Amino acid sequence: MDSCLFCKIISREIPATIVYEDEHVIVIEDINPKAPLHVLVLPRRHIATLNELTPADDGLIGEMMRRAASVALKGGFDERGYRTVFNCNRDAGQTVFHIHLHLLAGRSLTWPPG
Ligand code: 5GP
Ligand code: ZN
Repeated sequence: MDSCLFCKIISREIPATIVYEDEHVIVIEDINPKAPLHVLVLPRRHIATLNELTPADDGLIGEMMRRAASVALKGGFDERGYRTVFNCNRDAGQTVFHIHLHLLAGRSLTWPPG
């Protein structure tokens, strides 16, 4: 999608620090990290919000979750713990309308989120 920031990152029009990529997903460092490790797992395909998911995306979402766990493990955060978050629309504070899974680790995180 032409106007989408994350599509532009995926197509290399806009730079980002890429920590992993394969044919379905790409993992980038968040530009404004909220924890010592804060990365975003993006599907290569443009999907605006979780509301647009279909049963055909179940495998993709599974891949995104397992990729987050794998990046957390690689960072040595598997035992200590970490948080994964999908924000959807206004009340959750979604600002980029291309779904992305946040992975935060490296500090104690409060619950519930504010
Ligand atoms: P949301 O609020 O939509 O769940 O999360 C969007 C995230 O994208 C935010 O954590 C924000 O810091 C990050 N972000 C916004 N613009 C950029 C950018 O240009 N590059 C990168 N790497 N992250 C960005
Ligand atoms: Zn997009």
